[in-house]
Amino acid sequence: MGQEQLQFIGGARRSGSGARLSIIAPATGAVIASGAGANAADVESAVTAARAAFPGWAGLTPGARSDLMHEWARILRVRAGDLAAIESVNAGKPIRLAAEFDVPGTIDNTAFFAGAARHLEGKAAAEYSGDHTSSIRREPHGVIGSIAPWNYPLQMAAWKILPAVAAGNTVVLKPSELTPLSSLLFAEAAADAGVPPGVINVLTGTGGEAGQALVEHPAVAMVSFTGSTGVGKRVAATAAGAVKRVHLELGGKAPFVVFDDADPEAAARGAVAGALINTGQDCTAATRAYVQRPLFEEFVGRVADLMDRVVLGPVENPETDMGPLISRAHRDKVLGMVERARESGAKIVRGGRIPEHTSTAGSYFEPTLITGAAQDSEIVQHEIFGPVLVVLPFDSDDEAIALANDTVYGLAASAWSRDVFRTQRASREIQAGCVWINDHIPIISEMPHGGYKSSGFGKDMSAYAFEEYTNIKHVMSDITGTAHKPWHDIIFRAG
Ligand code: NAD
Repeated sequence: MGQEQLQFIGGARRSGSGARLSIIAPATGAVIASGAGANAADVESAVTAARAAFPGWAGLTPGARSDLMHEWARILRVRAGDLAAIESVNAGKPIRLAAEFDVPGTIDNTAFFAGAARHLEGKAAAEYSGDHTSSIRREPHGVIGSIAPWNYPLQMAAWKILPAVAAGNTVVLKPSELTPLSSLLFAEAAADAGVPPGVINVLTGTGGEAGQALVEHPAVAMVSFTGSTGVGKRVAATAAGAVKRVHLELGGKAPFVVFDDADPEAAARGAVAGALINTGQDCTAATRAYVQRPLFEEFVGRVADLMDRVVLGPVENPETDMGPLISRAHRDKVLGMVERARESGAKIVRGGRIPEHTSTAGSYFEPTLITGAAQDSEIVQHEIFGPVLVVLPFDSDDEAIALANDTVYGLAASAWSRDVFRTQRASREIQAGCVWINDHIPIISEMPHGGYKSSGFGKDMSAYAFEEYTNIKHVMSDITGTAHKPWHDIIFRAG
């Protein structure tokens, strides 16, 4: 699987000009590809290609762009097996997750934006002043610099690229240097569908080298960033220097609120799936379960029993439920947070360790259940990005809402109850870009994904994404045909 050319610029694979990168399989520690990374010179080449492609791409009819994107979706369907296999190995995902979630989600997104490309909307043209016809043009920005994380490499590439190109922009995407392989295949499929060279470029390089140069490049009109809140703040600060538009999809710390009338079995199953999906490396993962006191012990018991049944193993095995964390360094970070929680008096009900049989090979970590942590502790307030669920009790509904809102993040949340008034209140008062009711995790192409508070701003997926990737232009045309317009009298009265 050694792919030496890790860049996709101007419609073709190329070698980078930067330092050599090794792509590691998190489940085994094996090097699966290596090649030269991108540096500032490669950013220059990619942005130049994207600039050159922009007038032609933006000038196509929406229908023509849509046709190419439908063909792209068709090719992705044909290559679904290959995409799932590479995503599974490179990101350390169980093959079931890659094949049944990441890849079909990406194909559906591609098909959705192929259709949505023909539906850019705005206010109706009308004579609002009486003397003019006002109309709205929705125009692409130009070259979009997109930066993506490692947790869902293919889906993140899709979320960044699809609405941008559907609206007529061209893109330079920098995936995480840990997980570039599926993004390269995604871009190649677009080229094979007939999307012109330069419309989509992929640069495999580090954040400090390729990412920073991309954000700083004067010809990049907008920066679309998905990643941690810390790096997102830096990216936003750099972009602010050039008054660039920024779209930020940042970290999360989703609350999972279980009221005492909830279905305990449904809530426990939802919590385990929501906490362990993608080994907890999910920005919307259920991380803080607040459970009303009468249900607390039962909920903890059920979750512990379910976690005992989760199968860790090789990612290519269809029986494997949970794969490794992305890297040894990240596993050490997760372990450190769990250890500090233990030292500060929290109870590790399940897991909390590196499983013995896998410790030498991949970066595995046990499904972990914690109780007795303080609301203001690190494990409750900070993003863990690992298979760790912390459960805390609450008494009143007011307290539950307050606890759910008590972090800097606001990406996603869920509320579990059979009482419509409670769930309506939770959906209204929890500050998050998505509130699930009696479920946690499902996403859908037609609906937006994006944060409140320090989880960022702007939306991925859905027609709402076009708000980020288009500029609104007001065109106001005089319809009186007169030289002396009545409003001139406010300014001067020269007869
Ligand atoms: P990260 O912030 O470390 O890196 C994200 C990307 O930014 C990578 O491609 C990295 O190379 C690049 N980067 C790093 N420094 C840079 C710089 N100075 N300039 C430009 N680019 C730079 O995040 P990660 O560890 O790859 O991903 C995990 C994070 O992503 C978590 O915080 C998670 O919550 C977040 N995430 C958010 C969403 C969302 O939709 N809100 C989705 C997925 C992941």
